[in-house]
Amino acid sequence: MSSHALPAEVDGGIEQLIHNALAPQVEAIDQGAFPGDFLRAFGALGGFAAALPAESGGLGLGLPAQIDLIARVARTCGTTGFLAWCQAACAWYLQLSPNPEVRARYLAQVAQGQLLAGTGMSNVVKHLAGIEQINLRGHRDGQGYRISGALPWVSNLGAGHLLIAAAALDDGTYVMFAIPPGAEGYSLRACPAFSGLEGSATYGVRLKNVFVPAADVLSTPEQFDAYVRRFKAGFLLLQIGIGAGLVQASLDTIQKANQRLDHVNRYLDDQADTLRGDLDTLLAQTAALAEQEESAPLLGILRARAQGSELSLRATQSAALHAGAAGYLMSSPTQRRLREALFVAIVTPALKHLRKEIHALEQRQAA
Ligand SMILES: Cc1cc2nc3c(=O)[nH]c(=O)nc-3n(C[C@H](O)[C@H](O)[C@H](O)COP(=O)(O)OP(=O)(O)OC[C@H]3O[C@@H](n4cnc5c(N)ncnc54)[C@H](O)[C@@H]3O)c2cc1C
Repeated sequence: MSSHALPAEVDGGIEQLIHNALAPQVEAIDQGAFPGDFLRAFGALGGFAAALPAESGGLGLGLPAQIDLIARVARTCGTTGFLAWCQAACAWYLQLSPNPEVRARYLAQVAQGQLLAGTGMSNVVKHLAGIEQINLRGHRDGQGYRISGALPWVSNLGAGHLLIAAAALDDGTYVMFAIPPGAEGYSLRACPAFSGLEGSATYGVRLKNVFVPAADVLSTPEQFDAYVRRFKAGFLLLQIGIGAGLVQASLDTIQKANQRLDHVNRYLDDQADTLRGDLDTLLAQTAALAEQEESAPLLGILRARAQGSELSLRATQSAALHAGAAGYLMSSPTQRRLREALFVAIVTPALKHLRKEIHALEQRQAA
């Protein structure tokens, strides 16, 4: 994961911040502490703005640099890598929104980490893939919309955070919008304990007849299909950064374990050189797709995202087998990464969802 694209002072600042402010709290984050201060500091250094153009306050380096930044966070802490994805994805939605008002209201603050933001898009993404019913429904009200419904789990939320989500209207069309903190009828519910990602500030969201003014609309029904096509590549490719960070960290573990145990570890599947080769291939494919942004072929993107999940599962399991009992200690990052990798494979689009979409596209291409 090269970082040559980042200006040297940003690169150095980010490395230092991850080392000094994130690494010491990883266990606490795994047990439920939300790394809000880290995310705000990371944003102040440009950590969510690599893919945004300079005129939006970004670094103008494109999606590959943003994927690399997420991977660098996830190498230290998978939960925080996921939160960095949430924040970068929200900045990406805002950047691509055809509505200049919503960009003016939120883009700079989200990109700089001053306003933390959750993306409640799993349900609509799964709904559009024919996997589940839509949870949020709305109707027009003057220039805006009224939205009601619930989302079972959305991360990177809390008092003072922004929510971005989408709802179906009475006529079967969709609208995507931002809900600012304190909006009337918007509330959060605590989730049951998860087996990982406990520090991700994940809540159940309730919207009760919440008014969304036109200025908070990211995409009107007329714009929706084209808008989703535009942001989908970034949404998926940025997630590969979370998996890449976990694979890189697993390679570090394997290398360390092999200093003592190579004579026996060499009999395991998924040796470091195999995993390293697969990671390099995946990163090269991801970077090539990310350079193309919205014109990248969807099938290639879905396959790369699925490979990111598969490789994370293989690499974290191999690291655990290489580390042995030492990696099974509750204090070991090796067992934590197994749980984080599983999350990469179940968060939307889950591996099963990706395989369904890949299958459908392959069938269509073959017909
Ligand atoms: C830690 C964590 C963080 C997440 N963060 C986000 C986020 O930031 N944004 C976002 O949009 N989504 C988020 N999700 C949701 C995630 O992306 C998936 O949509 C979710 O895990 C369901 O996918 P699935 O493949 O299990 O669904 P399926 O297997 O297709 O299950 C069908 C549906 O049943 C529902 N369901 C099943 N069991 C329960 C239960 N016990 N309680 C409530 N509902 C249930 C689920 O909502 C699911 O959509 C998060 C999930 C977790 C576990």
